Amino acid sequence: MKPKKSLGQNFLNDKNILSEIVNAGDINKNDTILEIGPGTGNLTELILKKNPKHLIVIEKDKNLSLKLVDKFKNKIKVINKDILECFDELKINEPLKVFGNLPYNISTKILTSFIKQDHLDKKYKKFIFVFQKEVADRIVAEENTKSYGRLTILTSWKTNRLKVFDISPNCFYPMPKVWSSLVTLIPKSNILILNKVKNLEHVTNIFFNHRRKMIKKPMKLLFKDYENIAKKININLNSRPQNITEKQFLEICKLYENLI
Ligand code: SAH
Repeated sequence: MKPKKSLGQNFLNDKNILSEIVNAGDINKNDTILEIGPGTGNLTELILKKNPKHLIVIEKDKNLSLKLVDKFKNKIKVINKDILECFDELKINEPLKVFGNLPYNISTKILTSFIKQDHLDKKYKKFIFVFQKEVADRIVAEENTKSYGRLTILTSWKTNRLKVFDISPNCFYPMPKVWSSLVTLIPKSNILILNKVKNLEHVTNIFFNHRRKMIKKPMKLLFKDYENIAKKININLNSRPQNITEKQFLEICKLYENLI
């Protein structure tokens, strides 16, 4: 069967890398696992060897789904759907560990759809995801770097992020053009509660729209008395968006929410 580019099908076939990915999930027999985009089942097979309580996989490709049922029989539950359309249907009784060598065309969309959910720590124990390296770098970035931005702030607000290792294009079939990275994210149990995630997205959009410009302009756009607010949260209006810490962005968002 020919891999489908439209579905981001780059199958991982390096045994060492696959087993390192599974190890990053510290699977035990009480875990219920969700795997996104299992494809031909390379990762699925190794997850099963760790004897989790349940393994549910979501695969959009009809043919691959049928093959997975054939291969694993009733050892796994195969859902033949688009992950982006079944978040609400996922009946979760216990926190999940979520694995995925994600389809790269929608990898950030998948991640943010998880992150934006309420009570993240009650629903998920850990995410073990393979991204294109550039996306992984944005997720785990620190402030004052080029990769630091909206995705960093959103993910670090709710999770502890870790890049485990980079993966060469050679480990996939067909070979992607870029390097990939394994990232784990563990939901934090104590986070600052915002009224709406949308407000944080709005604030960071305004700031990072012009990432090279000084933050005076976005501050002015958000607040009438921006100079006082800048003093209050101790930021210099001449700095750039990448100099503002995640904590300061959350403070800015809180103050913005008080106004609207
Ligand atoms: N995990 C496998 C395959 C990774 S390739 C491996 O490592 O070998 C990405 C997989 O995601 C493909 O099997 C593709 O069909 C599937 N996929 C693509 N878009 C999807 C979507 N929206 N929902 C669920 N699965 C999807």
